[in-house]
Amino acid sequence: MNFRLLAAASAILCSVAADAAPVLAPPPQLGPEVQPFVHVPAGRIAITHLRIIDGTGAAPVDDATLLIEGEKIGALLPSGAAVPAGYRVLDGTGETALPGLVGMHNHMFYIARPNIDASGHSDAPLVVPQMTFSAPRLYLANGVTTMRTTGSVEPYADLNVKAQIDSGKLVGPHMDVTGPYLEGPNSPFIQMHQITSPDDARRTVAFWADQGVTSFKAYMNITRAELKAAIDEAHRRHLKVTGHLCSVTYPEAAALGIDDLEHGFFVNTQLDPGKKPDKCSEATGTPTLVTMKPGSAQANALIKLLVEHHVAITSTLPVFEQSVALHAPLNSKAMAVLTPQARESYLYLRNRTAQRGSTPQAQQFAEAFHNDLGLERQFVAAGGLLLAGPDPTGNGGVIPGFGDLRELELLVEAGFTPVEAIRIATMNGATYLGLADRIGSIAMGKNADLVIVKGNPASNIADAENVIAVFKDGVGYDSAKLLDSVKERYGQY
Ligand SMILES: [Zn+2]
Repeated sequence: MNFRLLAAASAILCSVAADAAPVLAPPPQLGPEVQPFVHVPAGRIAITHLRIIDGTGAAPVDDATLLIEGEKIGALLPSGAAVPAGYRVLDGTGETALPGLVGMHNHMFYIARPNIDASGHSDAPLVVPQMTFSAPRLYLANGVTTMRTTGSVEPYADLNVKAQIDSGKLVGPHMDVTGPYLEGPNSPFIQMHQITSPDDARRTVAFWADQGVTSFKAYMNITRAELKAAIDEAHRRHLKVTGHLCSVTYPEAAALGIDDLEHGFFVNTQLDPGKKPDKCSEATGTPTLVTMKPGSAQANALIKLLVEHHVAITSTLPVFEQSVALHAPLNSKAMAVLTPQARESYLYLRNRTAQRGSTPQAQQFAEAFHNDLGLERQFVAAGGLLLAGPDPTGNGGVIPGFGDLRELELLVEAGFTPVEAIRIATMNGATYLGLADRIGSIAMGKNADLVIVKGNPASNIADAENVIAVFKDGVGYDSAKLLDSVKERYGQY
């Protein structure tokens, strides 16, 4: 054994820990702002007669007893086994436990459209208010126990909210805070820095890594040279880079060493007409996706390349569903958390999509949506790591937490079985984050991060919406109380 190498490796690990707070912090003492949401305090807890969907893709286990020991999962006992002495017993009859969701495209902001009217028109500029108050509560209430912010507009706010959650001052999930969007010129977002050179990209990554962010996201107008500089600097610090790309195509990004690509296959521009190197195409990927039928030679080549380069793909179906006419409306629980203004804006844009349902553009988009579902399945069948997140942006119909649950339903509509969809939204995210030994599945010794729902999502995935309690580090939080605390607030703060 080479001890010098081992010492060098542990020195690297220590330097990473010093740069950034780890995604999973040790469980804190919960302060007065968090206590009111605690439904089941940490301790020795036995939940009996519970169905378990463990997050590995395995078939559910019916009528089990789940033992929680403080912050960890103690054991899973089979049906009929006696509960050992000293446990608080909760009856889980009719309920199912899933691992806490690992949301991999989970922003902390809302996209406001100033002075929006019924025709969908709004005034410039697009403004992105920070949802530091409501978003963490919405995520946790809906079963998200770990999340990546996947692009930040207020990175200091995101870092500070993570620190306060980790120290028990605020309620919310574990967070992988992504740095500010690595974006070039002509961004629609006025709050983003516009990178001007590869050296600027490198310095931006270095600065924010030093501030404590644990991941990065490249955006639509970055050049290949800037993306390469950003990836190299992030990798030097053992941090990963994802991208919502346009100027750089998927094959180009894979060759540059990117770790993950956002938005399924929707934003690959490699076959877009008029695509110029380092420039975003006007169509931002839809023509490529319409052309790239699942199972076609082009699709096979791209998927082979992505799998060979270990590039993950993040499925964000809820945000694209908003562009399909007559898509599923928000349920009443979700509508209740929107501000009246956000509700109005959502309904204006939803109506507008419905009115345009028969235009050629809408039909082209519906075809693209259909192809994406097939490509996501093909990617997984080829051994690719598919991640899940809602991307709470779009027309306001994708809401933190609620969107994560909707993503499960859409993965099932895409053709995955319910337990496969749950694995994509739990274990796969944990695997990407390098945390699969601690979270992502229900197994002895792992963190007690769990969602308890009424019903059986293995036979009806929509039952995942019936969240009763969410355990994080062995503490059970009351979903209804969390939602009630943000009633009519999402869109405001
Ligand atoms: Zn996004």
